[in-house]
Amino acid sequence: PYMVLMTPLRLFDNENGLLIVLRDLSAQYAAEKMRREFSANVSHELKTPLTSISGFGEMIANGMYANEADVRMFGQRIYSEAQRMVTLINTILHLSKLEENDTTITWGMVNMEEVVKYVVDIISPQAHHRGVTVLSETEPVYVHGNHSLLSELLVNLLDNAVKYNRQNGQVSVKLSKTADNHMVLTVSDTGIGIPKDKQNRIFERFYRVESSRSKETGGTGLGLAMCKHIISRHHGTVTLDSVEGRGTTITVTMPCLSAQEVSIEEGNAKA
Ligand code: ADP
Repeated sequence: PYMVLMTPLRLFDNENGLLIVLRDLSAQYAAEKMRREFSANVSHELKTPLTSISGFGEMIANGMYANEADVRMFGQRIYSEAQRMVTLINTILHLSKLEENDTTITWGMVNMEEVVKYVVDIISPQAHHRGVTVLSETEPVYVHGNHSLLSELLVNLLDNAVKYNRQNGQVSVKLSKTADNHMVLTVSDTGIGIPKDKQNRIFERFYRVESSRSKETGGTGLGLAMCKHIISRHHGTVTLDSVEGRGTTITVTMPCLSAQEVSIEEGNAKA
């Protein structure tokens, strides 16, 4: 409940010399609530690996091991939990930079067909490991945007499509262009799907459908929040179509360059 929901109002009672000023604080309260929730989530996410790190560290420090293999195993756990924290912190920093309208982001013409091919290549070993086939169908599409953010968008979507898939499942990526110069990118999978009542929440920071299930797959719950920001920075939209137990399709639409704009940009690049 956001206490004061009124628009700015000033009342001045001449007789008693009383001045009352009311301001609409709902937006401010909502922002503060979000910040509080965010800090609580971050603290929780960091506390979990830290608890393991300190537990294993304590065991080594107190000589609570039988042999060298134990020490190595504890060291390995400490190392991987620390890595997880580093990834998480980097992701959080990256996300907040993105939310702050960072002006250091460089914009240019991005060949989306190349980005798709590149990301499909880097995701393939992981897909192969899970017996998932990745198919792609592309056509030349150029977007005015940031190359690394657009690659990251694809990595996140494909990573999820592989991670939340079933054994021997399939992922298909389609990249096309509409007559009115919009890029349409769809990533479909034959995976576990997302329950209807959770679908509008998966783009929230730290939200995971079932923490245990996602934890197994090593997620942070920040990937789709990042995607949403990247898409909106490129003036695009995202839609979700998912059936539990059947699979998920995510469709990203954003303005792309017309053939004429592409040749102008190419001319500029050569000059
Ligand atoms: P995570 O790091 O947990 O993958 P994301 O922000 O990328 O975080 O996704 C949030 C949650 O949405 C995931 O934990 C998962 O529960 C659900 N999700 C995302 N993509 C898919 C998908 N393709 N199929 C099924 N569930 C998905």
